[in-house]
Order: sequence, then C-alpha cells, then structure tokens
Amino acid sequence: MRLGLSQIIDRPGESISYSAVVDLSDLQYGTCFPVTEPVLASGTVRNTAGVLVMKGKITTCIHGICDRCAAEFDRDMELPIDAVLVTELANEENEDEWVFTLEGDSADLDDIVRTVFVLNMDSKLLCSDDCQGLCCRCGKNLNEGPCSCEKEIDPRLAALKQLLNK
Ligand SMILES: [Zn+2]
Ligand SMILES: [Zn+2]
Repeated sequence: MRLGLSQIIDRPGESISYSAVVDLSDLQYGTCFPVTEPVLASGTVRNTAGVLVMKGKITTCIHGICDRCAAEFDRDMELPIDAVLVTELANEENEDEWVFTLEGDSADLDDIVRTVFVLNMDSKLLCSDDCQGLCCRCGKNLNEGPCSCEKEIDPRLAALKQLLNK
C-alpha cells in the first residue's frame, strides 16, 4: 500500500494518520513461516520542521516454533515504528535502516512495515524473551518447571543413585 504525503510534504506542523494491513506470511525463520496472520500497522506521519517523522506501531500474532524449547507457540507482537521519511538519501553509504526514501510524494508502507518488522524481530524466534529452553541432559522443557538433573550434581545423591541402580 502506498501512503500519499502530498498534503504534508511541504507543510511543517501538518500530520496525517495511516493504517495498513500487510502480508508477511512469506517471512521465514528457521524452518517455519510464523507470520501467518495479517500484520496491522498504524500511526501518524508528521512534518516536524520539514522532516517527515513516522511514528506508530505494528501488531500481529505470530505462530512459531521456539528456537530454544522447540514448543509451538502463539505470541502477540507489538513493535514500534519510529522512522524518518526522506525524498532522497543524502549519502547512500551512510544509509540508516530507519530512514526510508519516498517515491515521488508517497511512501511504500508495505516495504516500511516489512523492514521494521524484520529489524525488530530477533534472529531467534522465541516463545518468550525469558524462555528457559530444554535441559541439555534430560531434554525436559524447563518452562514447565525444573528437572531432576540438578540433584545429580550433588555427589552424595549421585552415589546413592548408583547404589539404587544396582
Ligand atoms: Zn521457548
Ligand atoms: Zn534435566
């Protein structure tokens, strides 16, 4: 979707709001395509002293497989949009990820939302930021509680376990 900015492009202080639905179902993380639901983006673009400042948020629900605990999960995502729109990049070599160029007097919302989403997402896809993962010894999902491996570190218990196993 294209966002026409002709109303504000030469008018400091003016702003327009936007909302868009973007399809990011082709984004791949590992072996899965977690963005199965539409991605909603909304906010405003304000001409701040001649600079077009884009604010807003991206919301969606992703359905993925956690990189750490291998569980399937659904997770509501809300990511901030905080970007600057320019008519042309002053210096291509110093291109900032958060600066987007206009095409004529309009912005490519699909491209902006896709870029912001990808930049915000960790390369790892996690069911939650503090996912405990799996125990490297017994494979238990530690989000569901501690496993019994810890106790084996105690040499007395280890000795007892050996006795019991005999
Ligand atoms: Zn997890
Ligand atoms: Zn364990």
